[in-house]
Amino acid sequence: MNDIILLKVGEIILKGLNRRRFEQKLLGNIRWRLSRLGKYRVYILQSTVYVEGDEGADMDLAFEELQKVFGVVAISRAAACEKDKDAIAKLAIEYLRGDMLRAKSFKVESRRSDKSFPMTSVELSQYVGGELSDAYPDIEVDVHEPELVVHIEVRDLAAYVHAAPVPGAGGMPVGSNGVAISLLSGGIDSPVSTWMIARRGVRPIPVHFFSFPYTSEQAKEKVIELARLLTPWCGKMRMEVVPFTHIQEEIRDKCPEEYFTLIMRRFMMRIAERIALDNGAKAIVTGENLGQVASQTMEAMASTQAVLHLPVLQPLIGMDKSEIIAQARKIGTFETSILPYEDCCTVFTPRHPRTHPTVAEVEEAESALDVETLVNEALAGLERIAIDYEESL
Ligand code: ATP
Ligand code: MG
Repeated sequence: MNDIILLKVGEIILKGLNRRRFEQKLLGNIRWRLSRLGKYRVYILQSTVYVEGDEGADMDLAFEELQKVFGVVAISRAAACEKDKDAIAKLAIEYLRGDMLRAKSFKVESRRSDKSFPMTSVELSQYVGGELSDAYPDIEVDVHEPELVVHIEVRDLAAYVHAAPVPGAGGMPVGSNGVAISLLSGGIDSPVSTWMIARRGVRPIPVHFFSFPYTSEQAKEKVIELARLLTPWCGKMRMEVVPFTHIQEEIRDKCPEEYFTLIMRRFMMRIAERIALDNGAKAIVTGENLGQVASQTMEAMASTQAVLHLPVLQPLIGMDKSEIIAQARKIGTFETSILPYEDCCTVFTPRHPRTHPTVAEVEEAESALDVETLVNEALAGLERIAIDYEESL
């Protein structure tokens, strides 16, 4: 008899009529995550997803990987035994050793879906609770506010003893809230904003602006690596790399220096919006953070967003840098983000950037450019890169 993994479904249950669709997304995402690890059976019953491994399936690895699936609030493991009260008590004593030694108080809760089991749920709880108390005399029984709840389930094929749950990744299943373009640079912030928006159920399409030869092939490889590091959470993605060199040179040659960055960002937004329209994406996500750099004042952002119709989502807008860094470490992107390859934003940086521009000023500053032609030219040169976790492993 094999262990199983149980995943407690999160906010989906608030979704009323759409619940089935949300659940199907979650199950699909879980199956994708597990597909490269072995063969598993995945199904859902009453807001709990059950994962059973076939012979030889690695349950430790599955347990670890499933902690990165959005839409799950808690995740626990359960061990199986035959449906016999002594077998259940023996398993509970062995399997829960760590949990029982850590906690100060506990209670047992049992559930039977197999009603032919000869004890009621209450009797089984009392019996196993008594055996556990004998085995671990230092932990108290507390039926009101126990630190540890031991769950026992008697089901069709076996009985299960559940270990204490660990937190899941939270949020909503990726894909359940639509698609967005996520502007991904090689910095610390944008991998975190991409992660945060995916956590809200949005499937991100990463877009990177690449200014070869001002930024190197290694800078591009770094962004590809960052996207790959996000796939355990976001799923496989298709990254769009936009050739940005000509636009930046045109800005350098034809616009006043103090507006370079703002004009460049307006081009990023225009191109991102066109890619969004081609891909059914409904928003543009950035790693902007109020006040962090000259282009992230409210006026600067207004001048950038003036070219757009789609909403710009900025999940990091109110965070402190230290919080963003802590999050980047947790996700696992930080070490790659700090590799020293330059980003296109650092090419032709103005010495004295405008921090409080008006939209009209910026429009005037870029008036010498043939915007439409430049945008079309960049879009014609798009490079698509498949970011697939399995293949890149
Ligand atoms: P990051 O750490 O994410 O690079 P940042 O603090 O360096 O952000 P900026 O360089 O002003 O800030 O960029 C703000 C946002 O614009 C980034 O978070 C990202 O979403 C987007 N962005 C910047 N450069 C690029 C690029 N080369 N390709 C795609 N998006 C970019
Ligand atoms: Mg940057």
